[in-house]
Amino acid sequence: MSTYPRAVTTRAAQYTATVLRREQLSDHLVRLTLGGDGLADFTSTGIPDEWVGLVVPGQFQSRYYTVRRWSGGELVLDVVVHESGLVTEWAAGDCVGDEVVINEAKGSFDLPEGPDGCCSSVT
Ligand SMILES: Cc1cc2nc3c(=O)[nH]c(=O)nc-3n(C[C@H](O)[C@H](O)[C@H](O)COP(=O)(O)OP(=O)(O)OC[C@H]3O[C@@H](n4cnc5c(N)ncnc54)[C@H](O)[C@@H]3O)c2cc1C
Repeated sequence: MSTYPRAVTTRAAQYTATVLRREQLSDHLVRLTLGGDGLADFTSTGIPDEWVGLVVPGQFQSRYYTVRRWSGGELVLDVVVHESGLVTEWAAGDCVGDEVVINEAKGSFDLPEGPDGCCSSVT
């Protein structure tokens, strides 16, 4: 029996969040820490590969981002900065203090059944 539920969603919930911190981890990788009262009711699926939809200011389309950490009311996302793109161009600038929308927390990881779990195909 799998430890994690398959393709679980926390309904079509939406949360507003504020960018608390922006760290430039490398030339093309930015770490964003989101927080604020709007995230108080955020519900994690608890699934290891959990991702959320991110809608940045002035946009209505979401882009998916993997949850790096959800702890103490703060949600951490790592954004790869490409040459162009809705989130790319926003995250490349000074976005601290901006308000974003987070939606659709989901996860799909499903631990294979059986005593060998993930390692059953490793030789
Ligand atoms: C389940 C899931 C989880 C994800 N988690 C993350 C995550 O944690 N961090 C992260 O950075 N991305 C993640 N992605 C990928 C991210 O959603 C896409 O890269 C997204 O399109 C980026 O949005 P954008 O607005 O910057 O670019 P868009 O407006 O969507 O795209 C515009 C242009 O950006 C360039 N571009 C976009 N994506 C890529 C790419 N992957 N490689 C090369 N060029 C690209 C292309 O030139 C594209 O035409 C995830 C995707 C999925 C499905």
